[in-house]
Amino acid sequence: MVGCEAEVDLAAIAHNVSALRRLRAVELMAVVKADAYGHGLVPGARAALAGGATWLGVAYLPEALTLRAAGITVPVLCWLPRPGDDLAAAIRAGVDLSISDRWVLDDVLAAVRLTGRQARVHLKVDTGCARAGATAARWPELVLAAGKFAGDELDVVGVWSHLANADQPGHPSTDRQLAAFADALDVAAAHGVAPRLRHLANSAAALAVPAAAYDLIRPGIAVFGINPLPVPPPVDLVPAMTLRAPVVLARQVPAGTPVSYGHEYVTTGQTTLALVAAGYADGVPRSVGNRGSVLLAGRRRRISGRVCMDQFVVDVPDASVVAGDEVVLFGPGTAGEPTLVDWARAAGTIPNELLTRVGPRVRRVYR
Ligand SMILES: *Cc1c(COP(=O)(O)O)cnc(C)c1O
Repeated sequence: MVGCEAEVDLAAIAHNVSALRRLRAVELMAVVKADAYGHGLVPGARAALAGGATWLGVAYLPEALTLRAAGITVPVLCWLPRPGDDLAAAIRAGVDLSISDRWVLDDVLAAVRLTGRQARVHLKVDTGCARAGATAARWPELVLAAGKFAGDELDVVGVWSHLANADQPGHPSTDRQLAAFADALDVAAAHGVAPRLRHLANSAAALAVPAAAYDLIRPGIAVFGINPLPVPPPVDLVPAMTLRAPVVLARQVPAGTPVSYGHEYVTTGQTTLALVAAGYADGVPRSVGNRGSVLLAGRRRRISGRVCMDQFVVDVPDASVVAGDEVVLFGPGTAGEPTLVDWARAAGTIPNELLTRVGPRVRRVYR
């Protein structure tokens, strides 16, 4: 390891997918948006497929086209088409598109005319997350408008929605969203729209809300081995990423040495300061300064002072440390290192954000 390195355990990704498939006997769309949550889009997708995923899901069209360019032929859903996206390219590449609004429907129909090919679409209803999806008030109109083209210009593959609070078991809004989804399916059926796939469940719902499974689950974070629930998950999830960085300097300093920008840490005795080659440009959040821990020289040690763009310092009073020593920032936790969940807690965020912020300088190494 020369610099900061993210080791990705592809077998863990495959294992997690297969565990989720066994838990819910429905199709599984592995969500690989944002570079497969920082693990690498194409390797992450292939590992998920090896584990039994039958679909892939992404936010943006270029992500879907990258999967196709890599020769991946399974169904791919792109759920955030943007004004100006080349939807003809999506249709030619056989990418499924989510339709939340009239403008998307119009753009898809224009692309169908341009390509002379049918588009595969999933109609999205907002059941109470207030992100994408037609509101309940506009849903009948969207279904009616899309239904006119079903079987001809459009193959209406799916009807879908997204839960706001599946990571809080027992949250009353989840039952309300389930009921709203059932109503939306009835409205679709009344307008002659009978999708092959009804889907609603992100990782938290796939793990904790059996009634949300319908025909397909859409886990993302759990595919990468992270439990989004505040309670232990019903299946064994193995974290796929281990983040490491080398010590580049180890210096002896006296007591009372103020450390890093702002001098927010001061040594209390004669000690060794290890300078670690990873910073916030690599995805180490600045907020873990004086809060987060790493595994170095045999035990967990607190980061000393502020995290900088390219480096941070760890005070090591009780062990020998030299340049080239390995520092484990986070990993599965099986060798004494902190986990991503520990890091998220220290940083005041969720593991998803930390994974997707592991920077472009960090080399991904696949095992
Ligand atoms: C990101 C995303 C998912 C996956 O969410 P996780 O919580 O990571 O499992 C599923 N569906 C949609 C629409 C998403 O945006």
